[in-house]
Amino acid sequence: MPPISTCPNDGAVMEPRETQETVRFRGLDLTVVSGAFVCPECGLELATVEQAARVQKNISRAYREAAGLMTGEDIRGAREKRGLTQEGLAALLGVGIASVKRWEGVHIQTKSMDTLLRKALAGESCANPDTGNRNLSLPRVKQVICAFEALLKRRLFENKGLFSGKYLWYADMLAFRETGQSLTGAMYARLPFGPQLNNYTDLFPLIKGADISELPPLDEADIAIIARVARRFPRKKDVFKASHKEPAWLNTSTGDLIPYPLAETLAGI
Ligand SMILES: [Zn+2]
Repeated sequence: MPPISTCPNDGAVMEPRETQETVRFRGLDLTVVSGAFVCPECGLELATVEQAARVQKNISRAYREAAGLMTGEDIRGAREKRGLTQEGLAALLGVGIASVKRWEGVHIQTKSMDTLLRKALAGESCANPDTGNRNLSLPRVKQVICAFEALLKRRLFENKGLFSGKYLWYADMLAFRETGQSLTGAMYARLPFGPQLNNYTDLFPLIKGADISELPPLDEADIAIIARVARRFPRKKDVFKASHKEPAWLNTSTGDLIPYPLAETLAGI
């Protein structure tokens, strides 16, 4: 898109202007440079698509600097220094190449993903395709099931959590696809009746009885993932049917763990 040359109101020649603005973003005050074309006659301000994209990039960089996270440039620079391609870094992390591209752009990685990125870029191995790059927390599993119960207005703890397993699987896989990390660290087995928590008959009573009173609440990004799954599958039979059409389930042998990198093939959400 070419620069905006004349004012649509009065035909005056628009002048480029750089401004510094303070923007509040995710609880932090950030100073970012933004650019626009301004009409000297009527004061109209217009931004080109490129200018708007640059503002988004500047906010992302300023936020990551303020929050102690690697910026997109940091990630790209460290990756190139190690002679890694985007595919290579994605493989080390057990995520899709699209995730690496997003983090090198404006998408902000989570704190825990940042730790994994730093490890991978320092040459330490970190990916765990079975847990989705997170340590299993049974209280957190319970917390996610409770969030689903509240959103769906349905009970999920009965029948040994048969349906909660499918909701959990979608939430964990979606979180992995979007952030490179699962929500709960749970492992899932390919069972004949769908994806299910690995060893769920042993685990489920422990999940049900877990104490979540000391746990910090789920953050906004976690809730957003859970809400997306709940909206997509309002009824238990929806999640049941959809999970049986997933390539990740269809292409894994019965009894095997379903690897998280198959999240790239999710079709139902
Ligand atoms: Zn004007």
